[in-house]
Amino acid sequence: MPGKKNFVTRFCPMCGKEFYPTPEHVYTDSRKRMYCSWTCFNHRDDHKVKPIKKHKHVALIDEKGNIIQIFISAKSAADHAVDAYESSIYEACRTGQPYKGRRYRYITESEMEE
Ligand SMILES: [Zn+2]
Repeated sequence: MPGKKNFVTRFCPMCGKEFYPTPEHVYTDSRKRMYCSWTCFNHRDDHKVKPIKKHKHVALIDEKGNIIQIFISAKSAADHAVDAYESSIYEACRTGQPYKGRRYRYITESEMEE
């Protein structure tokens, strides 16, 4: 695993805001979900909303499935490749088929913790 996880943004499961988790600014619940603020953390059980899945993290992987690089979204992954389309990255994640010779898959929050 490259030591880049500290620079990856998170999406607050409460308000959906993108934020950078830092050691002095971490509100984590028992399921290891991170919240952007104390307010969001405090209100996390107020209403049972579905977790926000708008932005799925995407990993660039090698042939054996090892993670080479993590992107916060398919858009970000597309931005890092030449002439790549966000929709094609999604397609590659979904089907497991290589896209422009690169393999991608969705990655979960817990995988990023490791
Ligand atoms: Zn929040």
